[in-house]
Amino acid sequence: MRSPIPFLILGAGPTGLGAAWRLHELGRSDWRLLEASEHPGGLSASFTDPQGFTWDIGGHVQFSHYEYFDRAMDVFLGADGWLHHQRESWVWMRGRFIPYPFQNNIRRLPPADLEKCLLGLVEITRAPRPRPENFGQWIDATFGPGIAEVFLRPYNSKVWAYAPEKLNAAWVGERVAVTDLGRVLHNLVQAKDDLAWGPNNTFRFPKRGGTGAIWRACAGLLPAGRLLFGSRVAAIDLARREVRTADGRAFAYEKLVSTLPLDELIRLCGRDELTPLARAGLLHSSSNILGLGLRGRPRDELATKCWMYFPEDDCPFYRVTVFSNYSPNNVPDIRTHWSLMTEVSESPDKPVDQATLMEQVIAGALNTRLIERREDIVSTWAFRAGHGYPTPALQRDRALAELLPFFERHEVYSRGRFGAWKYEVSNQDHSFMQGVEVVERLVHGRPEITLADPAHANAKRHPWPFARWSSAS
Ligand SMILES: Cc1cc2nc3c(=O)[nH]c(=O)nc-3n(C[C@H](O)[C@H](O)[C@H](O)COP(=O)(O)OP(=O)(O)OC[C@H]3O[C@@H](n4cnc5c(N)ncnc54)[C@H](O)[C@@H]3O)c2cc1C
Repeated sequence: MRSPIPFLILGAGPTGLGAAWRLHELGRSDWRLLEASEHPGGLSASFTDPQGFTWDIGGHVQFSHYEYFDRAMDVFLGADGWLHHQRESWVWMRGRFIPYPFQNNIRRLPPADLEKCLLGLVEITRAPRPRPENFGQWIDATFGPGIAEVFLRPYNSKVWAYAPEKLNAAWVGERVAVTDLGRVLHNLVQAKDDLAWGPNNTFRFPKRGGTGAIWRACAGLLPAGRLLFGSRVAAIDLARREVRTADGRAFAYEKLVSTLPLDELIRLCGRDELTPLARAGLLHSSSNILGLGLRGRPRDELATKCWMYFPEDDCPFYRVTVFSNYSPNNVPDIRTHWSLMTEVSESPDKPVDQATLMEQVIAGALNTRLIERREDIVSTWAFRAGHGYPTPALQRDRALAELLPFFERHEVYSRGRFGAWKYEVSNQDHSFMQGVEVVERLVHGRPEITLADPAHANAKRHPWPFARWSSAS
C-alpha cells in the first residue's frame, strides 16, 4: 500500500475548497481532495438549463465577515467579476409587500394586525418574559405575541419545516433583527419605510455563471490532479485510517478533513453506536429549489427586489428570489426574459408531494401575483438538496460536543455546513473559513475561531491574520 496522504479532504464545496486553497497557498502539495460529483461547489454550485437560464441552489447572497474570504473572492473572479447590489428584501402577506425587517415596518399592515403587533410589543415591555428555552419562546419574548402570531411563527415554521419549539434559542445571534419599540413607533408616526438593517444590506454576485462560478474558478486555480471528481466515498475505516471510494479505490490518510454531512460520516465509518446521539441532535431539512424562467419583464413592483418572504399558506414557498435581478446573465436575454427562484422546505414534520410540487409552485406564484400568466413560463427547473438546512435543534450542541471530539480523536476533522452542523456559521464565508482555519490549526497550531465561537465570528469583520491569534501569541 502507498504511504498515507498527510491531508485528505472529502468534498469540493466551499469548506473543502477552503482547506485545499489554504494548503496550496502554504506551498504544500501533500494533499488530495475526493468529491462525489463531477463539479465543485456543493450546495453553492450553479446550473444552466437547456433554455439558457442559470440557477443557484436557492438564492445565494455573497456576504462576508472575513478579510481573507473577500480577498479570495477577488482572486477567484477578479475584482471586476462581480455585480454589486443593494439588498432589498420584502415580506408578501395580506396581499401587499412589507419591507424587511418586518417589525420595523408593521405600519404597512391592515389595522387589526397592526394593533395586535403593537399590543404585543407593549406587553413584553411591561412584563418581560423569562429567559427562553427554545426558539418559539424566544420569538414570543423578543417580539411579543402579536408579531409572533402574525408573521414570525408562520414564517419560521415554513422555513425550518419544524415547529419553532424544536429549535434552540442560542443560534439566533445577529441572524434575526430584534425589536426596538422606539424605532417601530417612529416609523409608524412618520409613515416611514425602514429597510436599512443588518449585516448583509449590500452584497455582490458573480457577473456570469451564478454563485457556482466562484467555486469553479477556485477549483480551476488549484493544481490539476489533486482534486479527484467522480470519487464518491463509500466507507471509512477509522482504525486503519483509510477511505474507500464506491469504485473500489483506497486512500490511506494521516489527517482527514471531512465536509460530508456528519450523520453520513457516522454511517460511512460504521459507527452505529453514535446514531442515537445523531438522531436526537442532528435534525435537518431538505431544500427544494424550483425555478421559473419567464418571458417578458417583471412587473414594476418586482423590478428592484432581491428576495421576498412568504409566510402565508397560499403558496408552498417560503422565499423567492428575482434571480434575473442578480445578474442579467442569469437569463438568455435580459431584454425579453426574467426569472424567479423559489425555495420549498421539507422534513419528516413537513412532507412535500414531489409529483405535484412544480404545479403547486406555479399556482402559488399566480396566487401571490409574482406572475400574471402561466403562458409566460418558458422554462422550469427543479433541484432537491436532501441536506438543505442544518436545523439548530434543542439537542444539537450536546450531540456536537460528543461527536466532533470523537472523530478528532481519530484524526478526522468534520467541518462545514453539515460537517459541523452549526447553522449560524454555515454560509459560504463561514464554510470556506472553517476549511481555512482547520488547516491553520493542523499546520500551525492556531485555534479555530468560526466553529469554536460563532457569536464572535458573526460579531464583526475579521482581519487576516485573526486578531485573536496575535493576542494569544
Ligand atoms: C437553499 C439554500 C440557500 C443558501 N443561501 C446562501 C446564501 O445566500 N449565502 C451563503 O453564503 N450561503 C448560502 N447557502 C449555504 C451554502 O450553500 C453553504 O454555505 C455551502 O455550500 C456549504 O459548503 P460545504 O462545503 O460545507 O458543504 P457543501 O456545499 O454541501 O459541499 C459538500 C460536498 O461534499 C460532497 N460529498 C457529499 N457526500 C460525499 C461522498 N460520500 N463522497 C465524496 N463527496 C461527497 C458533495 O457532493 C459536496 O460537493 C445556502 C444553502 C441553501 C441550501
